[in-house]
Amino acid sequence: MDTELNAIVCQRIDLSDSAMIMRVMPEDGLTPDFRPGQFAVLGLPPDSPRCDSAVQEQEPPDPDRLIQRSYSISSASMVKDFLEFYVSLVPHGLLTPRLFTLQPGDRLWFSPKPSGIFTLANVPEDSHILMFATSTGLAPFMSMLRTEKLNHSKRKFALVHGARHSWQLPFRSELSSLQHICENFTYLPIISRPDDEPVPWKGLTGHIQDSWHNGSLDKIWDFHPAPENTHIFLCGNPKMVDQMLDITLVEGYTKHTNRLPGTVHIERYW
Ligand SMILES: Cc1cc2nc3c(=O)[nH]c(=O)nc-3n(C[C@H](O)[C@H](O)[C@H](O)COP(=O)(O)OP(=O)(O)OC[C@H]3O[C@@H](n4cnc5c(N)ncnc54)[C@H](O)[C@@H]3O)c2cc1C
Repeated sequence: MDTELNAIVCQRIDLSDSAMIMRVMPEDGLTPDFRPGQFAVLGLPPDSPRCDSAVQEQEPPDPDRLIQRSYSISSASMVKDFLEFYVSLVPHGLLTPRLFTLQPGDRLWFSPKPSGIFTLANVPEDSHILMFATSTGLAPFMSMLRTEKLNHSKRKFALVHGARHSWQLPFRSELSSLQHICENFTYLPIISRPDDEPVPWKGLTGHIQDSWHNGSLDKIWDFHPAPENTHIFLCGNPKMVDQMLDITLVEGYTKHTNRLPGTVHIERYW
């Protein structure tokens, strides 16, 4: 099964014990073309070691098959030196405890064809883009924001990223700089446990849904995002995705599917 492994970890950046940025390069040296927002499939053999913080698996993996899972690509589509992934550890999971043992130089399986419809491809050019992410749900938006020539666009972009704590908001520096450079980009990090912060938090508090209800973005954009002028992208925790979907459907947004174009685009991670 090891012979099926076709990619190499070229860099690993640990964000915490349970989150990392992993950069991967196919062994043939060719990164596939992809649209920002798409995902690739990574895999490892079931007999690969599991990391120390892993707990008992709910069910053992099939010993004869690679364990494979989907991961959104976070790097820009024009970067050809590596593909970047932002991965969080699921201690009882099958793949992530194995992924978290990998070090630069280790091999893994990588699907040669990234896929997915969670992209800006079907959004009219005059529509504003509103992105909501929890945790690693930020990954596809990093790819979109790193690839789009934001400054050359008349549309507005806003990213609301929710986490419990400020230290669980990676790419903050990059996103804050982007906001500074691009007038049409707004970055709104929001944390739900401000009392735990070692330094008082001056930003938004609560959950992503609260940022919609209290009109945080309306004040910055000077108008309320509506289906006539805005497409919404939701990615990450299924609870957040479902609640935001309900909220936006009530306001007249429609769900985007392969068959039926709509104004709310969804990527569910589990
Ligand atoms: C299109 C797509 C893109 C994705 N992109 C990313 C990404 O960029 N980064 C990333 O870290 N993950 C991403 N995921 C999730 C990823 O595919 C795996 O599901 C996740 O890494 C867990 O894999 P596992 O084998 O360790 O756990 P599994 O054995 O698959 O999971 C065990 C159980 O844990 C629950 N679970 C799964 N993931 C989580 C989670 N993150 N938090 C809490 N509970 C969970 C599920 O209920 C599942 O039944 C994506 C999923 C999809 C469908």
